[in-house]
Formats: sequence, structure tokens, C-alpha cells
Amino acid sequence: MSAEHVSVARADFDQYLVPNYAPAAFVPVRGQGSRVWDQSGRELIDFAGGIAVNVLGHCHPALVAALTEQAQQLWHISNVFTNEPTLRLARKLVEATFAERVFFCNSGAEANEAAFKLARRVAHDRYGEDKYEIIAAFNSFHGRTLFTVNVGGQPKYSDGFGPKISGITHVPYNDLEALKAAISEKTCAVVLEPIQGEGGVLPAERAYLEGARALCDQHNALLVFDEVQSGMGRSGELFAYMHYGVTPDILSSAKSLGGGFPIAAMLTTSELAKHLAVGTHGTTYGGNPLACAVGEAVIDIVNTPQVLDGVKARSEQFRERLQAMGQRHGLFEEVRGLGLLLGAVLNPAWQGKAKQVLDAAVAEGLLVLQASPDVVRFAPSLVIEQADIDEGLARFERALARLSQA
Ligand SMILES: *Cc1c(COP(=O)(O)O)cnc(C)c1O
Repeated sequence: MSAEHVSVARADFDQYLVPNYAPAAFVPVRGQGSRVWDQSGRELIDFAGGIAVNVLGHCHPALVAALTEQAQQLWHISNVFTNEPTLRLARKLVEATFAERVFFCNSGAEANEAAFKLARRVAHDRYGEDKYEIIAAFNSFHGRTLFTVNVGGQPKYSDGFGPKISGITHVPYNDLEALKAAISEKTCAVVLEPIQGEGGVLPAERAYLEGARALCDQHNALLVFDEVQSGMGRSGELFAYMHYGVTPDILSSAKSLGGGFPIAAMLTTSELAKHLAVGTHGTTYGGNPLACAVGEAVIDIVNTPQVLDGVKARSEQFRERLQAMGQRHGLFEEVRGLGLLLGAVLNPAWQGKAKQVLDAAVAEGLLVLQASPDVVRFAPSLVIEQADIDEGLARFERALARLSQA
């Protein structure tokens, strides 16, 4: 017998859920590729990708097969034992990146938590108690645990939760002089998103990341790249650090890594990894067989020239057509980002109104995202079909036309 399905509606959210989200008025029930259907059977095109998570769209047959096959084998065993999907995915991540060691966990925040704890631990072991400061960027986003909201450069997420974690400073993004002025022998790590996602789809300048790398080396600090949003193919390379040619010491990955199944990873070198000896850190579900089986299927597909070249080609298309639309309707001129993480930066007259654009898009049957109140963000499936790109962009243009005429 399956569980009894009681009839539910959007109104139940307000009655039963903690009110920390404000979900849209409809309830999606099914997804296939880049299309989603709600309770009423209405079809929507998905340029949001579950916030840069559904890297291969909804219910990709290879991911469904990996998940259901593993579901017949072994769901959970804990880290008292290891398991085959964990070993296979770790090996594939190591073979595909700078990393030599992998720590699995369940969310971007946890991967960053592990990264920050590792950076502090390494500094503590190598240089003593006084080297613990972390430098991060204003407007950055690293997750919602207490440590990660404090490292994130958005006080609206960290204020009002009691004393802050000390030893964290923030500098303006893409400002190498500011980083140079802030870094010292007390710095244990510099933490950066190669593309600021939540903060407004703002890519780093190459010289900034190169400069950050050099400053870290001069001050015995570790360079941490948060690739939770920019990683796993979204930039057109497997990880955005490869696009920039700047290698971090520690990298966090989540979102696209599981294509919709919760999994995250912290990648690092063996020299650094050894500071997390037995008992120093852990998590019950990290390396869960179901999650790692899906992650393995994701990397097998994403890390191919076919998919990565496809991201670059689709990116060009999105960029050109969005730019033209922005000009025609006057809501935005600049389209920025990398690969299939793109942002339309609203013009001064439309600033603060990204939510209005999202609502207008939904009215036309299209899911897009915002990134700050000033940027409309696009994070579609990396393998989105041509017909879905065409139809989705046509719907977006209808939304823009409607807004500009109102
Ligand atoms: C989404 C995101 C996180 C947090 O990931 P969760 O899975 O929500 O904990 C951290 N860093 C970046 C850059 C993100 O985009």
C-alpha cells in the first residue's frame, strides 16, 4: 500500500509550513526535460532549473535509471562503512579536477562549512592560534548556517541571530586593491564565488582571481572557491575555475552536482585534507549511496565535450536574443554571466522590480529567477532543447512587452 494521498493546495503552505518562503501561487506536480506542469495541468517552461540545480532538466532518463537502480540495492549505510557509489563518484571528481580528496555532504552550506572549518584547521595546525581570519566579498552568498551567513557578505541574512562569528571581514568584489589592503598574516582563507550568483550573476574578472591567488600564496592563506552555483558545467567548463585558469586550494560544489538529488562535496588536495583526521568532522548522510549514484550519472553526462560545448552555444543564443529583447522593450541593456548562468541587469527605471518580471513571466508560462532585486536570472538545464529555448524566450518577450506597455 502506498501512503494515503490527501488532497493539498497552495493554501496549505500558509497553514502548515514555517513562513520563511513565499512560494508562487501554483503547485508544480510533474516535470519532464525543461517543462513543468502544475496541479491544474498548466504547462510552464523552466529557465530556473530549481535554482541552478536541475542541470539536466527534470527526470532525465539516465538519472532516473541511476536512482531507481541504486534504490533496489542500498539506500543508506552510514560512514561507519563506505559504499561503491561514493567511491566511484569521488574518483571521478578527483580525475576531473585539481582535487585529490573529496568530502561528501548534503548541501552547499555544508560543503562551505566544511571548507571554512578545514581552512581554519589547517592554519591552526600549521601556524597557531592567531591565524583564523577569513576574507570574503560583500554581496556574496555561501549558505544559511550560522558560519556561512557570517562569511556571506549580506548582513540581511546574518543580522538578528545573536553574536556574529568573529574573524570574518568583507571586501568589495572584483577590487584587488581592497583585498590587498585587507589580507594579512592573520588571514587563513580568502573565499570567493568565481561568479557571484545570488548577489546578481556577477562574474569575477580574471585578473582579480589571479591576484587573489597570488596574495593568498604570499600570505600563506588558502584560496576557497564557492562553486556551488557556478560549478558542474554551468559556466561552459566543468568548474568555473577552469574557465579562469586559477586553481583554488578548496572548492565547494552542490546544486547541479546532484541534478535535483541533495548532494554536495568539498574538494581539496591531500596535503590539506590530512588536517581533517578521523573524528574531526562528519555528517550522517554524507556520501549517501542514492545521492552519489545520481551524482555519478550527472558527471558522466555533464563532463563531456558535447554537453560543455552545448552550454557555450546555448549561452550565445540566450545572450544575443536577450540583449535584443532588452533593447526592444527598454527594461535592461546589460546581459552578464557565463555559460548558462545569465543575468539581465534591470535599467535604473526598473531597478528593484525583478520580482515583477518573474510574475509577468509566470503569467506567460515561464519560470525564471531573480538574483538580487535588480537582476533577472536564467539557469536553465544545460541540455535544454532548441524548441524549449525558442518558446521560452518568446514567452519572456511577451512578458517584457506587457510590462513595458503597462
Ligand atoms: C545556493 C548556494 C549556496 C548554498 O547552498 P545550499 O544547498 O542552499 O545550502 C552556497 N553558495 C552558493 C554560491 C550558492 O549559490
